[in-house]
Amino acid sequence: IEVDEFDLVVFGGTGDLAHRKLLPALYHRDLDRQLPAGARIVVTARRRYADADYRDWAAAALGEHVADLDEAALKRFLARIRYVPLDVDAGTGWSELAAVLEERPDVVRVFYLAVAPDFFGPICEGIGGEGLVNATTRVVIEKPIGKDGASARALNATIGAVFDEHQIFRIDHYLGKETVQNLMALRFANALFEPLWNAAHVDHVQITVAESLGVGGRAGYYDAAGALRDMVQNHLLQLLCLAAMEPPESMDADSVRDEKLKVLKALAPITGDSVDRLTVRGQYRAGASAGGAVPGYLEELGRDDSRTETFVALKVQIANWRWAGVPFYLRTGKRLATRVSEIVVQFRPIPHSIFDPEAGPIAANRLILRLQPDEGVTMQVMIKDPGPGGMRLRQVPLDMSFAEAFKVRNPDAYERLLMDVIRGNQTLFMRRDEVDAAWSWIDPILDAWAAGAGHPKPYTSGTWGPSAAIALIERDGRTWAEDG
Ligand code: NAD
Repeated sequence: IEVDEFDLVVFGGTGDLAHRKLLPALYHRDLDRQLPAGARIVVTARRRYADADYRDWAAAALGEHVADLDEAALKRFLARIRYVPLDVDAGTGWSELAAVLEERPDVVRVFYLAVAPDFFGPICEGIGGEGLVNATTRVVIEKPIGKDGASARALNATIGAVFDEHQIFRIDHYLGKETVQNLMALRFANALFEPLWNAAHVDHVQITVAESLGVGGRAGYYDAAGALRDMVQNHLLQLLCLAAMEPPESMDADSVRDEKLKVLKALAPITGDSVDRLTVRGQYRAGASAGGAVPGYLEELGRDDSRTETFVALKVQIANWRWAGVPFYLRTGKRLATRVSEIVVQFRPIPHSIFDPEAGPIAANRLILRLQPDEGVTMQVMIKDPGPGGMRLRQVPLDMSFAEAFKVRNPDAYERLLMDVIRGNQTLFMRRDEVDAAWSWIDPILDAWAAGAGHPKPYTSGTWGPSAAIALIERDGRTWAEDG
């Protein structure tokens, strides 16, 4: 279904995000005829391109990232693009941008800030100063939203001085993934799971976001962040919220976000002495990955004094009625054994077995929601092994791979999220108070790490992180679902 007429302004339109994600996402939505006839993409960046130069650049980007480009669709898509050189530091280009936008004062107007966060303030001020905000204006910002609670509050205040909260879309692309939305469909469109979705029936939950790549050329940026800020504060906590929240009244944005906020507020604080017990930091060393030998983090950074973590594992408790006593084990890192992201809900064992010991062990049920590399859902159940050989039990996966089940191209998260912005639907975007609550929980961990003398534990590239992360869960008599 077509969305409303819009002008989408991309700041930082020559950057990596625009190149790899935004342009391909918009092309696909256009290919599927979701963009109305007059929809425009107004790109700004520092480079002094003419429209035609940028269109060439965009065509090359699409050629690189889209399989089977359709020539007619490409032509239609490129014709939507306007380019306005705009230098935020120098303050040039604003009146040219205003002139382009004033050609269509009545359409939905979206500003996408695909630039470093230092520019968010000046860009918002520029937008406000030029009088470019109207009733249907929206602004999209990318992570990182701050490097701690104080800087996030300052950033949100800067943006909030120009835009109302209902106009601000804080994007977390994990929330646009099919599986993540499927988590809500599974939980709230089936009678099967929700009665079991609590401490009485769930033993624990694991959330893993494992990358096989290292930081490569982005070491400079990454070193100021680290895995806790870069991945846990946003993506992993958002996944945890969706897995743990109470049923919202509806899919309405504030209903969903109210419930997520309650989860964030119920997170048991990890502070002071408990930081060492409940968190594990790691930093990769040289090792081997699929492509051969790879250097360590410090070599890539070119300094040997960095205490930045490229891996973190945490044992998290949610102090509320539903989840008391059920640990949520979170881990994420770079240069791990494989690229996989999943949420694993481990149910409790059956209370009593009626079967002979020869029937074999009875594994507890497990629901696995896979976000990467292939999205899908698996439910592990026990069955009788077929055949006349008596009662032998076996664990089998009830598997639903979306790619196989639906035979459709799996849309990228940005496609869904960009269309939600144009529709004005904030359900899958973070509200300001969620960002604050997440930082309030993260800050004490960062403080304790900064105050302590310890360094992250080294781990060899291509493994599952430091052995302390394995001990973190095994101390509790449990194991990581995926550990090579
Ligand atoms: P990038 O460095 O590749 O691109 C930066 C863009 O900013 C370029 O288009 C550049 O022209 C523009 N720019 C720089 N200085 C400017 C100035 N003075 N005036 C106007 N424009 C200027 O960055 P990126 O990787 O595309 O990331 C953009 C934002 O998205 C960042 O906030 C980043 O943290 C976030 N982000 C990126 C990714 C990703 O996959 N690349 C993922 C998540 C979040």
